[in-house]
Amino acid sequence: MTVASPVTPAQPAVLETPGQHMLNSALHHLDTAAERLNLNPSLHRVLRSCERTLTVSLPVELDDGETAVYTGYRVQHTSVPGPCKGGVRFHADVSLEEVTALAQLMTWKCAVLNLPYGGAKGGICVSPNTLSENELRRLTRRYTYAIMPIIGPKKDIPAPDVNTDERTMAWMSDTYSMLRGEASQEIVTGKPLILGGSAGRADATGLGVAIIAENTMKRYGTPVEGATVALQGFGKVGYWTAHYLVRDGCKVVAVSDVSGGYYNPQGLDVEAMLAYTRTSPTRTLAGYAPPGVETVSNEELLLLPCDVLIPAALEDQITVRNADRIRARYIVEGANGPTSAAADNILHQRGVIVSPDILANAGGVTVSYFEWVQGLQAFQWGLDEVQKNLRRFLYNAFDQVCDFSEANKVSLRQGAFMLAVSRVAEALDQRGIFP
Ligand code: NAD
Repeated sequence: MTVASPVTPAQPAVLETPGQHMLNSALHHLDTAAERLNLNPSLHRVLRSCERTLTVSLPVELDDGETAVYTGYRVQHTSVPGPCKGGVRFHADVSLEEVTALAQLMTWKCAVLNLPYGGAKGGICVSPNTLSENELRRLTRRYTYAIMPIIGPKKDIPAPDVNTDERTMAWMSDTYSMLRGEASQEIVTGKPLILGGSAGRADATGLGVAIIAENTMKRYGTPVEGATVALQGFGKVGYWTAHYLVRDGCKVVAVSDVSGGYYNPQGLDVEAMLAYTRTSPTRTLAGYAPPGVETVSNEELLLLPCDVLIPAALEDQITVRNADRIRARYIVEGANGPTSAAADNILHQRGVIVSPDILANAGGVTVSYFEWVQGLQAFQWGLDEVQKNLRRFLYNAFDQVCDFSEANKVSLRQGAFMLAVSRVAEALDQRGIFP
């Protein structure tokens, strides 16, 4: 008699690397959602695994004539809902486990937003600041060549992520088009406007975080006008989030970046802070000290009294070490994975409302989707069209996640995962297992 293997095989107890920690956490969210949904074990087993995993070795000639060899990855979690979609990061900590976890999270994020994509992620284990621009270009082109067999505008569409940007996407798009011998700009999103990028892509994630923060306050009874906000991270996501929240009447009382935190209970001037980073020698807020602004540590920032706390920098910032001391009523996750699973339980028990990353920071992938649609149509939308559609997608997703979570008496994170897993599982069930 054949015995079906359990859905979650027993794992040996070993010390986790950060990548394994991320992967275990992603699987934990899937498993919890599957259990609550009473998901068919066969579908659950398929969703726990990744459809395709590619590891590539990337020899690159350096400017001094030596050859260095880097390792790159592209992981495709599932192509059941549509082509795979996900960013490419260049970072020394990139590992197969981390890329796999991020590919899975992309699936759930796209499903929450009802985007017709499955999740993917890519990365190269490299410190990009150790390479010249020419070396980076050669590395990017070699990586694109190496993953070319599995990417394509209808197969898998990469995008920027940590330490990659529109210049990286221009090189990827050019390499792919050259090797195919035909214009294929829709192979990536996050391109420069002149090469088929979309209006509104640069600020889309921050605008999305601000929209979700405001909707969360409105739904759970806090006026947006005058609401106090503390933000960790002042990069692409953090700055734009602050910009839109201030425009809509919130008071940003604390902001931090890698140099530390800056606090003024009367409200900070975020545009002046951005201007400061443009000219400061380290391009950070280090030394920012106008009257009324006091410095706090990044850890202290998380514990400040405020209505909304927005982690928009790194993963694993809210953990069992600080979850019971957080004083914000709402947490809106601009970063990916800023809250550990254990901290999430503590926050839920304390009544802190957490708008999870797979909903709150999905504005970027949503406008990436619009860019892909524009590319396929060879037609460019105006900014109004982009932002109108972004609002429509985010408002719908927010209402669906809240309604579902309230109906099932679970946290917004659990509700978002349950909704996402049920959608992808239904698509898988309808398609059936090939052959
Ligand atoms: P970024 O590199 O533009 O900005 C990161 C910011 O975090 C910088 O201000 C940096 O100084 C700050 N930072 C670094 N270490 C810090 C520390 N120890 N304490 C406080 N601040 C610190 O990156 P980004 O694109 O803004 O991404 C931020 C987060 O949002 C990441 O988790 C990323 O995965 C996630 N995210 C980004 C996008 C996007 O479109 N850019 C989309 C979805 C999710």
